[in-house]
Amino acid sequence: MNIEAKLGLDVFKVDTEPHIVIKHEICQAKCQIRYCLNICPAELYTLDKQDEVQVNYEGCLECGACLMACEHEALTWQYPRAGYGVQYRFG
Ligand code: SF4
Ligand code: SF4
Repeated sequence: MNIEAKLGLDVFKVDTEPHIVIKHEICQAKCQIRYCLNICPAELYTLDKQDEVQVNYEGCLECGACLMACEHEALTWQYPRAGYGVQYRFG
């Protein structure tokens, strides 16, 4: 079973309140490399039509890699509220 298939078995209870918030003004003012686009194992960071970074927090694996990779501290990141978030089926 490959990684995509394993991730597909995980279950997400999505909170209506995002647990990851991007401070877009910091991204636009300071960031050239945009590590977040490549670091997320679930590929949740994308660019919209305005070339602005967006995150689909609903599928977050709660690994924290994006928070560590963002050298400009443009992310507000916290674990989802109790009862929400990912439920792993493989470890
Ligand atoms: S790495 Fe941080 S500052 Fe750069 S685009 Fe991503 S969230 Fe914004
Ligand atoms: S915490 Fe991990 S899975 Fe969630 S958005 Fe950041 S890098 Fe992706």
